[in-house]
This record gives sequence, structure tokens and C-alpha cells, in this order.
Amino acid sequence: MKVPFIDLSLQHKALREQALDALAATYDAIRFCLGKDVTDFERNFSVTLGYPRALGMNSGTSPLHVASLCGGFGPGDEVIVPPFTFISSAWGISYAGATPKFSDIEEGTFNLDPEKLEEAITPKTKGIVVVHLFGQPARMDEIMAIARKHNLFVVEDCAQAAGARYKGTPVGVIGDAGTFSFYPTKNLGGCGEGGAFVSRRADVFEKARLLRVHGSARRYHHDMVGFNFRMDGFQGAMLNVKLPHLASWNARRQAIARRYIAGIKSADVILPQAVDYGASVYHQFTIRHPRRDALREHLAKCEIGTDLIYPVALHQQACYAHLGCKPGSLPVAEKACATCVSLPIFPELTDAQVGHVIESVNAF
Ligand SMILES: *Cc1c(COP(=O)(O)O)cnc(C)c1O
Repeated sequence: MKVPFIDLSLQHKALREQALDALAATYDAIRFCLGKDVTDFERNFSVTLGYPRALGMNSGTSPLHVASLCGGFGPGDEVIVPPFTFISSAWGISYAGATPKFSDIEEGTFNLDPEKLEEAITPKTKGIVVVHLFGQPARMDEIMAIARKHNLFVVEDCAQAAGARYKGTPVGVIGDAGTFSFYPTKNLGGCGEGGAFVSRRADVFEKARLLRVHGSARRYHHDMVGFNFRMDGFQGAMLNVKLPHLASWNARRQAIARRYIAGIKSADVILPQAVDYGASVYHQFTIRHPRRDALREHLAKCEIGTDLIYPVALHQQACYAHLGCKPGSLPVAEKACATCVSLPIFPELTDAQVGHVIESVNAF
């Protein structure tokens, strides 16, 4: 039985008619840059997930850039970020001219370890980019307590965690700014590039709104150096078609994860740790195994797709070699890179496919 690592065709086949009707309406109305589809999406996204307000943007990286500028990050500043994440989590810091300062993760959740956070703080530290990796909320109470003590601006990278809650609060409005990606493979994936910015703070939100469109509140009047980070009308239309399905898609991801957790029985496999403060929405289901490469080969022979997310930590990327982080300096992240393997977990997987993955892992 074939089990692809991810297959976006089923979701898009199911929504095809509705999606093409929505695109035609946007086309006929010539609503190409922001416009009603995007403002509708911003309202729908806020109401559905529980945000006071949201801004649609052209990717998940752009709101991270904007959030860094809202936090006042700049040359000479250090901003803490986990080393085990997608590279964009650090890009916003670098784009603003500040320096990423990597702080190690915890074993169980792959998220920033609050116990180690204070060691990473120096007089230059200006903020923290928290990542809710693989859909699992990070330990926000502990992180926010440290941030408050040191007066740090907290950005939440929610690219993988749309729909996740921390102790009942949707991720993204616990810190000062929250960012989302609607890249097609994300839990809420668009048909192309897209992202969003949220904040519980009206001042931060207003600055982000100006930065998104040329630093301009009034046409041809520019209060600050801004960007063109507008979301396309077509993308707003696609996201309005998909958003109503996010809750059931996330519930299906969680049901698959529960089956993996109950069914995978191997002394060598370390499963993702379940926590009581906020359920994961399982953007990925990432396990660890001391012979990860051999396990992947075995699963490939069983026609099961897997992926390495992530094989190289941020502090070991060529683009950050100049920061001089030595191998072994962030041991938990480095071990995660060496032992992790992600199993298929998209909502359209059948129970039979999930069963085949469990049996094949157990047979290894
Ligand atoms: C996908 C992702 C991003 C970037 O989003 P793009 O839409 O690809 O720019 C940022 N951070 C994390 C953790 C991601 O997974």
C-alpha cells in the first residue's frame, strides 16, 4: 500500500468547483491586490480562530520581517530564536539588521527550552522569536515571564500552528506579534504564497498595517520606509474557501496522531511528547530513532514516504557560519537533526494507510 508523505491533490479535487467559482468572481470584479476577498479573509480568520484583528500578507516570511521592525530590532541587537525550525524564523531578525541568538530546544516538544532561555540573554537582547514547531504550542507562560523580566518583545511564529491554542488562548496573541504562513503544505494552505500577521496590541498592529503597504496610511504619504507585502485577491478568495475546513482538518491530524501514539510500539522510537497546556495541531508528526536513516530506507521499501524536517540546525547553516556557533553548542537541537524523521500526517490519509505506517514502523 502506497502512503505518500503528503498529497495535496485530494483536498484540491474536493474543493475544485467552489475554488474555481471563487476565482471567477474575483477575476470578474478585478479585485487583484488586497480588496474585498482579502478583507473578508482577514475578518473570517480573526473570527474563526479568535484574534482581535489580522492582516493578510504575501508570504509567511513577510510578517516575520514586519514583526521584527515592530519590535524595534536593529543593528547591534540580539534576538533569541530556536535553532531547530525553518530558516524563515530567523530571517526577520536578519532582515532588520539584528543578530539571531540561538537558544536550545527541549527534547520532548522540539520547542524553545525556557530553562535555557536566560543563559542566552545578554545586555544586547531585544526580543525572542518563539516557534510553535510542528503545530505544538511552546511553553508560553515560562517564556513570557522571562520576556517581561528582561523587557523583551516576543514574536510568535505560528506558521505551522494555525488553529492551535495555549491554555485556551490562540497562539499568536500571547506575545506581542504573531505570524502565519499559508504556503500550500501548511495546515491552512493557500493556492500559492500567503501569510498573516496578528497582534493583541493595537499599536503594533497599526505599525504592521503601514509597513505592509509602503509605510503609508494615506495614499502617496509615506510615514516610514515600508514594503509591498500585500496579499493577492485570488489568494484571499482561495483561503476563504479553505478556512471553514481548518478545524476538521486539524481534528483529523490529531486523530491520526493519536493512532500513531497508541499503535507505534518500539523501544527505539521516541514519540512527540504530549503536553497538558496546549494540544498540537500536528503540522508534522516527527519521531526520533537512533538509526533514522535505516528506518527511512525500510519505510521506503514499504512504499511509505517520509521526510527529514529538519536535517541541519540554523546555527550550522552556511548563512550563519559567521556567528561562530561551534558544533556541540546546542546539543539537543543537533541531536534532533541527527535522529528525527517525519511520518505522513495529512488529513486525507485513510485509516488503512495509517495502519500500514504503524505496522511498518513496528516491523523495523
Ligand atoms: C513555512 C514557515 C515559514 C515561512 O513561510 P513562507 O510562507 O514559506 O514564507 C516560517 N516559519 C516556519 C516555522 C515555517 O514553517
